[in-house]
Amino acid sequence: MPPRESYDWLRAHAVETATIGSALALLHWDQSTKMPPAGHAHRTAQVGILTKLLHERRTDPRVGEALDKARAELLREDPESEFTANVREWQRAYDRAVRIPTELAVATARAAAEGETAWKRARPDSDWQAFLPHLEEIVRLRREEAEAVGYANEPYDALLDEYEPGETAASLEPVLAGLRRELVPLLERILGAPRQPDRTLLTRHYPLGCQRALCREAVAAIGFDFEAGRIDPTAHPFSTRIGPGDVRITTRYNEHAFGEGFFGAIHEAGHALYSQGIPGAHFGTPCGVSVSLGVHESQSRLWENMVARSRGFWRHFLPRAEERFDCLRGVELDAFVLAVNDVRPSLIRVEADEVTYNLHVLLRFGLELALLRGRLEPRDLPGAWDESMRALLGLTPPDLADGVMQDVHWSAGLLGYFPTYTLGNLYAAQLFEAAGRELGGGPQGLDERFAAGDFAPLLGWLREKVHVHGSRFVPRELMRRATGAELGHEAFMRYLTAKYEALYGL
Ligand code: ZN
Repeated sequence: MPPRESYDWLRAHAVETATIGSALALLHWDQSTKMPPAGHAHRTAQVGILTKLLHERRTDPRVGEALDKARAELLREDPESEFTANVREWQRAYDRAVRIPTELAVATARAAAEGETAWKRARPDSDWQAFLPHLEEIVRLRREEAEAVGYANEPYDALLDEYEPGETAASLEPVLAGLRRELVPLLERILGAPRQPDRTLLTRHYPLGCQRALCREAVAAIGFDFEAGRIDPTAHPFSTRIGPGDVRITTRYNEHAFGEGFFGAIHEAGHALYSQGIPGAHFGTPCGVSVSLGVHESQSRLWENMVARSRGFWRHFLPRAEERFDCLRGVELDAFVLAVNDVRPSLIRVEADEVTYNLHVLLRFGLELALLRGRLEPRDLPGAWDESMRALLGLTPPDLADGVMQDVHWSAGLLGYFPTYTLGNLYAAQLFEAAGRELGGGPQGLDERFAAGDFAPLLGWLREKVHVHGSRFVPRELMRRATGAELGHEAFMRYLTAKYEALYGL
């Protein structure tokens, strides 16, 4: 086959593989929102068959042969063309897939499934001994995977690269250390501020029907397209792209915690806006998929925190919320905005505010590095966790369920995944700053637009700078082009400092 024909064959093969993958995504969505409990066994069988089929297609030797031929064309191609990007990403995915022996892939998938079940059972009783053997097996298998895949400097890099292509422990450590140095003093200043939020404001009675209606109104206002998506309740919120024209979000409502459902919905809508902004014509090819978890998270955190927790946003939405909730009648705008930006150290990452959140991630990053570097054994994790928790947040967990056993990630085999959450926050701040600059008026200019209910310019800017590109550029390059800056903690700290100094009267 000549190079062009090889490329066309690869493209057709990739689109078919992605279509099978999208059926899996739909099965997963259904399982989390609609499936009756008795359907579980049959669902497991469906997922098993499709997963096996996908693995076979991804490691098909014909893909390797076609890539060898298509690469011959690369020198003649524009380095920024769709052709170049697709071949680069197909090669990356193929190399990784074939380097992992099938037995190892199967063993890891099984250990992750069993680990997650064991974690769910053991967590309520903080039963570490029941969970530990599963975790030990997962760490062992993922280390083995790192050796099979190969890495830049150390095993951790091989795992991180799967979620955030191009990043390594060495590239992240200085950025995260700089962040920690500045976050801790800012947190202390906020905690010592004379002005503090009324914490009872968000735990009043918020009827579920009204919450659902306000969430729909808000996600539509920021640009979520209900002709090409839907929102449903679930136990663990997520967003999923089934395919072009079908992006679904879920959230969890709590009658006495307004923030849980509302900001959960905006967060997932932020992910969904990215997915809805990727051109459907590229579906199934690298130019038609999101580029990394960090960049994905930058979209959700930008809309959740920088937009939906801004004063301008609530100038627009508080009157609308007041119409729906009796408990908000007469509540002052400033008091409400302060309440949705309540900062205090807490034990649980997923409930953390945007100031303390990254300290939770730094804790996990430190422990993961120690595990992968062989400086920490899984059995010693509970003690190491508590020690880091005291050092970073000044808290001691009362039990393991609220400590080392709180996250599902490690039980599901996801090591090297946590840093992408912080990357998301850093990229979000860099994008928000650049958008303010280019759209005019800086953060204040954006705030005025939000107050007028005008979110389209910001979404349009993100579409143009991030969404339409899919994986055409590697994450760092995409962000460099969008923001004109290198990855760093500075924009995030500028954003936090300005916002919290104003809010807390520092
Ligand atoms: Zn997210």
